[in-house]
Amino acid sequence: MSGGGGGGCSIVWFRRDLRVEDNPALTAGVRAGAVVAVFIWAPEEEGQYYPGRVSRWWLKQSLAFLDSSLRNLGAPLITKRSTDSVSTLLEVVKSTGATQLFFNHLYDPLSLIRDHRAKEVLTSHGIAVRSFNADLLYEPWDVNDAHGQPFTTFSAFWERCLSMPYDPEAPLLPPKRIIPGDISRCPCDTLVFEDEFEKASNALLARAWSPGWNNADKALTAFINGPLIEYSRNRRKADSATTSFLSPHLHFGEVSVKKVFHLVRIRQVLWANEGNKAGEESVNLFLKSIGLREYSRYISFNHPYSHERPLLGHLKFFPWVVNEGYFKAWRQGRTGYPLVDAGMRELWATGWLHDRIRVVVSSFFVKVLQLPWRWGMKYFWDALLDADLESDALGWQYISGTLPDGREFDRIDNPQFEGYKFDPNGEYVRRWLPELARLPTEWIHHPWNAPESVLQAAGIELGSNYPLPIVGIDTAKARLQEALSQMWQQEAASRAAIENGTEEGLGDSSESAPYTFPQDIQMEENLEPVRNNPPSAPRRYEDQMVPSITSSLLRIEEEETSSDLRNSAADSRAEVPINVNVQQNARVTLNPGAAVLQSPHSNARLQQNNGATELRITAEDSTAESSSSGRRERDGGVVPVWSPPTSSFSEQFVGDENGIGTSSSYLQRHPQTHEILNWRRLPQTG
Ligand SMILES: Cc1cc2nc3c(=O)[nH]c(=O)nc-3n(C[C@H](O)[C@H](O)[C@H](O)COP(=O)(O)OP(=O)(O)OC[C@H]3O[C@@H](n4cnc5c(N)ncnc54)[C@H](O)[C@@H]3O)c2cc1C
Repeated sequence: MSGGGGGGCSIVWFRRDLRVEDNPALTAGVRAGAVVAVFIWAPEEEGQYYPGRVSRWWLKQSLAFLDSSLRNLGAPLITKRSTDSVSTLLEVVKSTGATQLFFNHLYDPLSLIRDHRAKEVLTSHGIAVRSFNADLLYEPWDVNDAHGQPFTTFSAFWERCLSMPYDPEAPLLPPKRIIPGDISRCPCDTLVFEDEFEKASNALLARAWSPGWNNADKALTAFINGPLIEYSRNRRKADSATTSFLSPHLHFGEVSVKKVFHLVRIRQVLWANEGNKAGEESVNLFLKSIGLREYSRYISFNHPYSHERPLLGHLKFFPWVVNEGYFKAWRQGRTGYPLVDAGMRELWATGWLHDRIRVVVSSFFVKVLQLPWRWGMKYFWDALLDADLESDALGWQYISGTLPDGREFDRIDNPQFEGYKFDPNGEYVRRWLPELARLPTEWIHHPWNAPESVLQAAGIELGSNYPLPIVGIDTAKARLQEALSQMWQQEAASRAAIENGTEEGLGDSSESAPYTFPQDIQMEENLEPVRNNPPSAPRRYEDQMVPSITSSLLRIEEEETSSDLRNSAADSRAEVPINVNVQQNARVTLNPGAAVLQSPHSNARLQQNNGATELRITAEDSTAESSSSGRRERDGGVVPVWSPPTSSFSEQFVGDENGIGTSSSYLQRHPQTHEILNWRRLPQTG
């Protein structure tokens, strides 16, 4: 039955908000009358970030749950296969007679661009478009420092989030029922997420994971009633279920982060009243984890190329080792370092890795193998069940030392020591590396030191059934020092060339790009011709701030996308990312109608951005939390240091038994490290 009568209904466009509870776009659609719920599968739009096998498996299950819930409420989910979401939306509008479109915000660069285009195109066809925040506690443009500037370190950002004058909105209840729009002329497409081969590989996933919004809810409740209270003590245990396992649910928006926040805060108040300090501390740390997810979107919004370029500009001069043999050995878990290999085999077999092991394997990748971090990031993207562009980029940038508060670049963690720290009994290694199962714990994390008799008794022949270390740590350390010297020399040469006027400027941190600041993506606040603007509609509070772009960007993207696809089919090395320079020829412009919405500091920001802004590093250990470093004693327990008020970032690592000890004076020696480039917050339009 159609209650919409074919006219005046609303399209609710689902993307990574696959839930009926606390879904502001759905709530708005239901309030407005009849609803057509739509999901468009257009993975080619993601270019090289075509979702990986396990991620697609999750999506398939999640959509089935969503469809079933929506049907129970009165309207099925219409699924569409497309290569151009915006054109498909337009078709759905035409075939259903819809007059409104509602959707929730996403913050990765491709979505920002696509969503802005959707607004422009649909508005120009007379459709009212409204968008909402359903993915974050606070919109990125609402969290600024005292001067209206975006924060550049996690701790300052998170502190501000926690002290915002208003709390994140309370979560919305699911609708009681949905009046369906007329879908008689809008048939579903069958979506294919996995081929037969992939189906077989995916079969085991369902034993360990239960996608879907109601399962996400159960997982959240189970975590809050269980491991949360001991999160502060247990969260680093790589081999046990001590964290929430919410990341894939959160990625697909099966549970809202606002709901997570509110439920966890309620528990915190309860524990505070009971005087349960450990519980309170656990909540603080768990909320910081949620804060890192928020920060990943914040970084992506403010640095739309952060998944492609280091944020610290000098790293474009780092001579990465382009060695596909190393890359393959890392992927296959055959580096000769048991903890790294166990992690990589777990990732390959299950699509999952504990945060600590992610840090270990990624750190080994960039510091010991010195492979380009974007390769690792792309492999994680392909392999992780919770693959999330913003979190993936934040994690890799942090590990690579390319963020102002990232790890020190010349710090190398030794997997042998990390092994005894995170897997003291070797159980994790034995589970994932059966060839080492009989090796005594004493040697489990460094079999190359084991006496021949011990190896023989364990059935291990190094170099035959388990590899010798692919690179010695001492060699890696020396090579890293040499590479860093090269980097600084080149950086200095570049600066000198600029000062001599033989080069135009410094600002693009992409490794192989010219130094010239890419003029094409500069904001042109007042230059956008009026004719390019969508019919002006008053901006609503919940409207997303999105970039206004020229069609040249979209055209380039499309061209790149199709060639990427051709390459990936033909090239067995398709996992090596192709440098998609979408920024080339792209011009980001600002809708003059929106200029009035800009903060009064926007000009100052622009000037600051165009120069290489000097940033003082505040001492903190962001994404990581994860890092094994920077701890101090508090209340008798060892807890990570997030923002010690006095010590410098580098001081945190002094005496860190985990690192190889070169790091303490690194920043003092290289103050340029503080320069952050690509500080290109996307301009904002209503
Ligand atoms: C190199 C690297 C790559 C990563 N790639 C991804 C990725 O693709 N997708 C992803 O969701 N997470 C990624 N992370 C972050 C983190 O490892 C996972 O979010 C976490 O392990 C998920 O387990 P959990 O849900 O049990 O986490 P919990 O400890 O229970 O944390 C709760 C939630 O907080 C968020 N969170 C926790 N830590 C981080 C973090 N460091 N960065 C961003 N969000 C965080 C996640 O949404 C997580 O579900 C990456 C980390 C590193 C070091």
